Amino acid sequence: MPSAERSCETCDSAACALKNKPAGEAQEDFLERRAVGRRMCQIQHKVLVLSGKGGVGKSTVAVNLAVSVALAGKRVGLLDIDVHGPSVPRLLGIEGRPVEGTGEALLPVAYSENLKVMSIGLLVNSREDAVIWRGPMKFAVIKQFLKDVEWGELDYLIVDSPPGTGDEPLSIAQLIPEADGAIVVTTPQDVAVADVRRCITFCRQISLRVIGVIENMSGFVCGHCGRATEIFKSGGGKFMAREMGVPFLGSIPLDPQIVDASDAGTPYVQRFLGSVAAQAFQRAIAPVLALSVRPRGQ
Ligand code: ADP
Repeated sequence: MPSAERSCETCDSAACALKNKPAGEAQEDFLERRAVGRRMCQIQHKVLVLSGKGGVGKSTVAVNLAVSVALAGKRVGLLDIDVHGPSVPRLLGIEGRPVEGTGEALLPVAYSENLKVMSIGLLVNSREDAVIWRGPMKFAVIKQFLKDVEWGELDYLIVDSPPGTGDEPLSIAQLIPEADGAIVVTTPQDVAVADVRRCITFCRQISLRVIGVIENMSGFVCGHCGRATEIFKSGGGKFMAREMGVPFLGSIPLDPQIVDASDAGTPYVQRFLGSVAAQAFQRAIAPVLALSVRPRGQ
């Protein structure tokens, strides 16, 4: 049910950290934090999609999760702040779409009735541009995005974050301290390596709940017979999740149709509804959908 837009002026939350400037915080920092907070306050739940390193299919998973949640009837925003290689516009076939602004705010691109999208890739001139930004500039861009994009009211904001455990995912977690948690994407052969464990440890250190781990590229689905074959040793993600005490959300097989769908700019779950991988995505969003029955902030 649509509700009246929240605003700081009418909000009576005594606990809101945006109400007063703590001693020691610069006025400029307070105003910026408040500007981000005002936007984020319109959004019920925020989920960060993280990975220990690039190339594991984080953006593919973020896009398909966002589309799945939108198909479940929720109002979703997908924010791509992977400054190293913003690929969401390509995966959704909206590359080159103009971003409109109101002077004070940037309006997200409406991909479908329930899904709005904003990506650094929609603002830079070429795919290479984003890669050359240096640390402080990346932080400024991320902050500006959170501050300036006018999402309006949303049920979920899904954030495709930069890979790794460096300054950029840290900035996002700091800028959205009320985020519900993170979904960590890995591949089976990765789990033996330290990357994904480091990512989970990183979440713990910054008090970001791990909603769960998704093992991507787990087994191979034959394009001819549709049967799954295990290429890399699978089950490692599940084992690692259990060992680290975080939920396992499921395995997404390596499926050539995922590459085809991505290259064609049509999200896989939309194009191949009912396939093995699409069903795996459906199951993986269960804890995300369950967030909306939890009281805020728990
Ligand atoms: P990341 O965001 O982690 O860098 P991407 O989402 O860009 O990774 O995916 C990297 C490549 O792997 C892309 O070409 C994508 O189409 C492909 N890919 C991702 N997941 C799968 C999958 N389950 N099956 C087949 N190809 C996949």
